[in-house]
Amino acid sequence: MKQPIYCPHCIERNERVPKEDKRKPQILAYVEDVVGRGVIEFWCKKCRKTARIDIREYSLDQ
Ligand SMILES: [Zn+2]
Repeated sequence: MKQPIYCPHCIERNERVPKEDKRKPQILAYVEDVVGRGVIEFWCKKCRKTARIDIREYSLDQ
């Protein structure tokens, strides 16, 4: 199974809104598909914001 990278803005939003307003966080990419290392910028179309993800926090060894 591929490991998704979720939008941190979506997750943060879910912590602030009531339960009925929560939504599935946007999947920005899959770890397996990411080319490059370090901090990568993704665009979240739900938040309409740029999310900076440190790809080193995700391990492929799990
Ligand atoms: Zn988002």
